[in-house]
Amino acid sequence: MILGAVFQLLGTTAVIYLILMSAYFATGWLFYCNDPNRADKIQRGEALSPGKVRRDIRQSVRSLLSVSLMFSIGHVLYDRFHIGFAAWPTSIWSVALSLLLSMLAYDAWFYWMHRLIHAKPLYRKIHRWHHLSLPSVSWSNNSDTLLDNLFLQSYWMFAHLIIPIAPAVLLFNKLYDQISGVIGHSGVEHGGGMTWPPSPMISVTHHDQHHRFFNCNYATHFTLWDRLMGTLHHTHDAELKENLRQRRQESAPDNRCDA
Ligand SMILES: [Zn+2]
Ligand SMILES: [Zn+2]
Repeated sequence: MILGAVFQLLGTTAVIYLILMSAYFATGWLFYCNDPNRADKIQRGEALSPGKVRRDIRQSVRSLLSVSLMFSIGHVLYDRFHIGFAAWPTSIWSVALSLLLSMLAYDAWFYWMHRLIHAKPLYRKIHRWHHLSLPSVSWSNNSDTLLDNLFLQSYWMFAHLIIPIAPAVLLFNKLYDQISGVIGHSGVEHGGGMTWPPSPMISVTHHDQHHRFFNCNYATHFTLWDRLMGTLHHTHDAELKENLRQRRQESAPDNRCDA
C-alpha cells in the first residue's frame, strides 16, 4: 500500500515536472528569446545581465521540482486515499465553476501568503531571492527558494481539501498559472483588452510594478484583493492603460497613403 503510494507519487511528480518544465521553457522561449517587442520593456534602463538570466533559469529548474512534488502529494492523497472533496460529476458547468473557484481560491491564497512573506522578519530568508532580478524577465517566474514555494505554491497540495475539483481541471489551473506567470515577468505588456481596467484580470504591468515598487500588487490571477485591501499601486490603472494603448498603436497596420 505504502510502496504503491510512493511509486505513484514518484511517477506523478515526474509527469507534472515534465509538463511544467515544458510550459516554462516553451513560454520563456516565446516571450524572451523570440519576442520582437523585448526592446520595448515597461522597465526602461539596463537589461538583466546574462549571468543573472542563467541564475534565474537554474533556480527555476530546481524550484519547479518542488512545485511538482507538492502538486503530486495533493493528487496522490486525493486519488489513492480519497482525502478531499470528491469532484463534481463531469459537465461543462462543473468544469467551468470548479476552475473559477480554484482560480479565486489560489488568488486569495497567493495574495495573503505573498503579503505575509513581504513582512520584514520573513522577507530576507524566504522571498528576497525572487526579487533579486531587476528588471525581471520571463525566466524569473520560478526563480524561488524552496521556502518561498512552501508558502506560495503549497495551495496545489491542499486544493482538493478546499474545492471539489477534478485533477485534470486543477492541472489546467496550474498550467494557466505557469504560463501567465512566465508572461507576467516578461516586462512587455501582452495583456490586451482582457486586462483593460477595471477588468479584474492581472496584466504584465501589475506584476512588473510589484518588482519595481515592492510593497504593492501582491495578487496573481485577479486585481480584486489588491483593490479591496488598498494595495494596488496608485498609478496601476493609468500606467496599464498607457502601456496597452502603446502596444495597440505598435501592432496596428500602417494604413497611411504616402502618395
Ligand atoms: Zn514579492
Ligand atoms: Zn515576480
